[in-house]
Amino acid sequence: MKAYMLHGAEDLRLEDVVKPEPGPGEVLVAVKAAGICGSDLHYHAHGRCGNFVPTRPFILGHEFAGEVVALGAGVDAPAVGARVAVDPSRACGKCRQCRQGRYNLCPEMVYFGSAAVTPPADGCYAEFVTAPAANCWELPDGFEYSWGALLEPMSVAMHAVMRSGGVAGKSVLITGGGTIGQMVLLVANAFGAARVVVSDLKGFARDFAVKQGASGTLDPADADCAAKAEELAPGGFEVVFEAAGVGAALAQGIAMSAPGATVVQVGTLPDGTAIPANALLTKELQYHGSWRFANVFERVIDMVVSGRIDPRPLVTKVYPFEKLNEAIREAAGGGEIIKVQIENQD
Ligand SMILES: [Zn+2]
Ligand SMILES: [Zn+2]
Repeated sequence: MKAYMLHGAEDLRLEDVVKPEPGPGEVLVAVKAAGICGSDLHYHAHGRCGNFVPTRPFILGHEFAGEVVALGAGVDAPAVGARVAVDPSRACGKCRQCRQGRYNLCPEMVYFGSAAVTPPADGCYAEFVTAPAANCWELPDGFEYSWGALLEPMSVAMHAVMRSGGVAGKSVLITGGGTIGQMVLLVANAFGAARVVVSDLKGFARDFAVKQGASGTLDPADADCAAKAEELAPGGFEVVFEAAGVGAALAQGIAMSAPGATVVQVGTLPDGTAIPANALLTKELQYHGSWRFANVFERVIDMVVSGRIDPRPLVTKVYPFEKLNEAIREAAGGGEIIKVQIENQD
């Protein structure tokens, strides 16, 4: 089969590789749609992602949906021909965190298309992928593969909102209007936030947020930013999501939070980022990490089916499978992009 192997920085090659066979409990999925994530861009640009350094070439990608084409031993569902989205988290299922249902924190986690483990785990930028049957979620009729490939980042957003302890009736600030920030906005609105404000340096991100239902936006570089925030949420925001992965955004978000607020860290900050500890202390803030997601894949499907979340505007551009390198250049280009995907029609 054809697959994209990452050999190093800026070196992603479409190659012929051995087609995988589904093992016991696994299915073989023909990949129909796959998304490009910030972490994929990091791997592509640097040949690594933070501390995750691949020890051999591997297949990138972890956001995908496709058709089940073969079953391994002991699998009776999903059936051959089923349209599925795949939760890319393969946790051990045995450790304390897994047994408590917090499998996103499993120390043995093998995520698709990730060099967090040695050797690196292959991902979904391929014609076929094997996946545990238990990780496959059937897509209802009319649910497009492209939306299926959005379920992973939307699950990250929904997990973040759930980590906040609830946004219903509250004033919410999201720092960073990238893909995850925009998805947190959709989920926070669907979960009944009183108002959601998005802060971003880019005019495109602010305008997009307003189209997605933000009640206001902030430009963090604006000299009047703090005064505007006070107008939008008198007394401060009750819930803040830091989705930019930028220390200055965290500091600003904490400065704009109300006493007693909850701050959720969903963006990945550079190592060594200063955290305004005395503000956490004197405002009695809850500062929660939100790492990947657990137990929300099906919930996101339901929210889309019920019409509470509309995924359609999030997909900016779709390239054919053969043009992944072009798609990555577009996604990395800093243009007016929310999500770039590739699709495989045959
Ligand atoms: Zn992702
Ligand atoms: Zn585990």
